[in-house]
Parts: sequence; structure tokens; C-alpha cells
Amino acid sequence: MTSYPELQLYIGGTWRKPGETMPVINPADGSVIGALPMAGRAELDDALQAADEGFRVWSRTSPRERGDIILKACALMRRRMDDIAHSITLEHGKPLAQARLEVIRGCEFFEWDAAEGQRLYGRVIPSAPGIRYVVYRQPAGTVAAFSPWNFPMSQPSRKIAGALASGCSIIIKAAEETPAGALHIARAFHDAGLPRGVLNLVFGEPAEISSYLIPQDQVRLVAFTGSTAVGRHLTGIAAAHMTPVLMELGGHAPVIVCDDADPVAAGRLSAIRKMRNAGQVCTSPTRFFVDESLYSAYSDAFVAQVRKTVVGNGMEAGTDMGPVANERRLHALQELTDDAVAKGARLLVGGGRRGNQGYFFEPTVLADVPSDARVMTEEPFGPLAVINPVASLDEGIRQANALPFGLAAYAFTHRAATVDRLVDEVECGNLSINTLEASLPETPFGGVKHSGYGREGGAEGLDHYTIIKNLSHAMAF
Ligand code: NAD
Repeated sequence: MTSYPELQLYIGGTWRKPGETMPVINPADGSVIGALPMAGRAELDDALQAADEGFRVWSRTSPRERGDIILKACALMRRRMDDIAHSITLEHGKPLAQARLEVIRGCEFFEWDAAEGQRLYGRVIPSAPGIRYVVYRQPAGTVAAFSPWNFPMSQPSRKIAGALASGCSIIIKAAEETPAGALHIARAFHDAGLPRGVLNLVFGEPAEISSYLIPQDQVRLVAFTGSTAVGRHLTGIAAAHMTPVLMELGGHAPVIVCDDADPVAAGRLSAIRKMRNAGQVCTSPTRFFVDESLYSAYSDAFVAQVRKTVVGNGMEAGTDMGPVANERRLHALQELTDDAVAKGARLLVGGGRRGNQGYFFEPTVLADVPSDARVMTEEPFGPLAVINPVASLDEGIRQANALPFGLAAYAFTHRAATVDRLVDEVECGNLSINTLEASLPETPFGGVKHSGYGREGGAEGLDHYTIIKNLSHAMAF
């Protein structure tokens, strides 16, 4: 029988449990499942020193050896998948099957970056006789990273994978509400023989930790995933110290359903994908702009599929959707729904909290939502979809681009010419046609506009974790 792990900090290769703790809550029933130790200044200073020492060792370790240790840790995580998934479901609420998939995805991020780390090629620039110009890509230094609660294991995986594969050390503050995913990663790396100080895991008061770590001299990259508001704040602190940032921020993903799409198949797929992870995904499809000729067929198929969603405790077999991860989301979703209905939106299904134990919110669909409803501009980050008709492709693209966000965008169409226009005109970092998958280990992921800066994954994923150094070498002197 698996149990929720004992929560600790991991600093300089040792496990630490300073005095002050905060409770970790199971969102399915509100029970306390763990006591999370909070780092203070002393722990952060120790982590900074350890990361400095770790960087000196790790940056001088060969890429192949680094890759071997990362893969060894991955093998352990795959072997421990049931344990890790169990912890994730307890602290986050998602169905166990989705938690298992998350562990696999997290391992895939590590595996991809471990291989990419061995291909950090520089280049030789053609030069005059007697002099050589060589461009190197070198590890940036210590990374200060901050990962959110929606994917407790795969979110920290992205940051740790990028840092370690590039030869950087990292201090990661994972989400306090869902700490076990990151803890399991640290355990695997500890057991795989990662040198001390290369990976340091802390928890605490987010604002205190970020404002203390980011200005430190040895921090050479700030990597954050979370809301645009917090990302903007952290970017401001980093800018004052000329420290580069990698920012994966909010989205409010549009889906354009063109007049040649199959409305029933598209409606079904949209509903399934919308409710994944209870909608708490930065790429979650949310604003559905449907050609008016397909509007009712698409909406009917969407709603019929939503009605089939089995909402319940993620530990129970057959559950499709668990609770939202915390009480804040419950209130935010209720406010956005009530506001839209008050302004004239039609509530097709759902609309409120389910039961009074745990943080369950009904899968909810709103139609004909006026543009002044808050949900048209604020990311709901939950199981809430908006379906509106559009008269043309032009209008669909205009609506898609209407917000300051530009992370994922989707469309359903079979026409090559339409795809061509979407590629040129939709403002986003990730465009998906006839699929609602936006982020894979092998493809670059990130946003434009207020959705962030930089890319994770793909061949571009290590760019931010490395610096470019040019060598000019005169042979005769
Ligand atoms: P929030 O804005 O308070 O926090 C978002 C994340 O940032 C959390 O993980 C939090 O611990 C962290 N954070 C907050 N203040 C920080 C600080 N000063 N320094 C460092 N880290 C800090 O909101 P929330 O209620 O936790 O989440 C809701 C919103 O966050 C959503 O609406 C969504 O836009 C966004 N979010 C995005 C992602 C994503 O994958 N891009 C993930 C989780 C949350």
C-alpha cells in the first residue's frame, strides 16, 4: 500500500525539515495529508551555496555522464510510477490514470533533454588564415525556478530537465499545495547519484523566496511557470539585475471550428480535452468560436459529451474528472460563471459547485456569451467552456487574437488554404489543427504576447539554459 511521502526540503544532497510547516490538503475531501516544511533565509543561503558548488562540479561533468544520471533517475521514476501517481492524485485530485500519464510525460521531458544535452553544438566561423573563430554553448549557471500546482510532477520536470541537461545547477521552489511530485523527482536523482548541490528543492512563502533568490549574483536564469501577473512581477525583479528569464504564463486558448469541420466529432473531442485535468491547464481549450452553420450541431455534441463526464474522487476507478485543486479556483469559477449568466450568457450544463465536501466544480458550458463577460477575457483555469458562433473565418481569427494572451490556439478544418491563413495570422506560440494536443517533449512550447517568453522542449528547449561564448584565437603571436 502506498502512502503520501514525508515532506522535506532537499539542499546540498541532504534532506532537511526545518521547524515551520504548512498543511497540504487533499482537494477531494479537504483532509490534511502532509506537513510541508518551509524554508527560511538560512535554508535559502545554504541552497545558494550548495548550488554554486554543484554548478562547479556539474558544468565540468561530460554531457554523456550527465545524460546517464538523468536517464538513471528516469528509470527509477518509471519504476516508482504507481507511488508517484498516488501522491499526485492525493494532493492534486486528478484521476489516477491521468496522474500516471503525467509521470510518463515528466520522464519523457527528462529523456528528451538528456539527449539534447549531448547535442549542444557550437560552430566554427569561416575566418582568415591564422585566426579561428569558434562559438561555444556553455551552461548558464545556477537557475532559480518556480513551478506551479497544476502538474505536480511534469511541471518541475520541465525546469529540472532543462537545467540539468545543460550543465546548470538549480534551486527549484515547487508548488506548496502539491509538493510530492517534485519531492519524488529529488528522491530519484538522489538515488541515481546526482552530485550534491546540483538539484535543490525548497518550499516556503513564494514571494519571500523569489524576492530573495532572484537578485543573487550566482542566479543566472529565472524560470517560472504560472500566471501572467506573477510572471510579470518576477520579470521585473530579474530585470533590475539583468538576469534573463524563461516565462511560461497564462493562456485563454481559442478554438476555431471552420465550416468544413465535422461538428459532432469536433464537439466530442473538444469536450473531452476541455475537462482534462479539470481544465487546469495553460493550454486548455476554452473559447470555442464555431462557424454559425455548425453551431447547434457542435454545441449539442459538446454538451452530450460533457454530460458523460464522471466527476469524483480521482482514486476511484472510472473517474474522468476530479475536484479543482484548491478553494481559490472554486470561487473564481463560480464568479466567472455567475457574471456571464447575469450578462446574458446561456448556461448549457453545469454552473456550480458539486456537493459540499472537497472542491468539486461541475463541468460547465456557457453559450452566446457577451464580450463584456469577464470569462471572455479572464482565463478560467478550470472546467469551464465558452461556445460562441462566428459568421466567418475572419471573425474567428479576430476573436482568437482579441486577447493579450498567445499560448496555444486550435482549429478544426481540412482546407490547406485555411491552415495557411491560420499559421500566418493567429498570434500564438503553439497552433494545433484537428488535434487539441499542444505540448510534447520534442516540440518547442511557449507563448507570445502576455503568455510569456522563451521555449521549453524541442531543439530550442536548452537555449535559455546556455550562454553563447565566442572564441577568437590567433595562431601566431
Ligand atoms: P497565483 O497567480 O497566485 O500563483 C500562480 C503560481 O505562482 C503558483 O504556483 C504560486 O505558488 C506562484 N507564485 C505566486 N506568487 C509568487 C511569487 N511572488 N514568487 C514566486 N512564485 C509565486 O495564482 P493561483 O491561484 O495559484 O493560480 C491561478 C492562476 O495561475 C491561473 O488563473 C493561471 O492563470 C495561473 N497558472 C498557470 C499555470 C500554467 O501552467 N501556466 C499553472 C498554474 C497556475
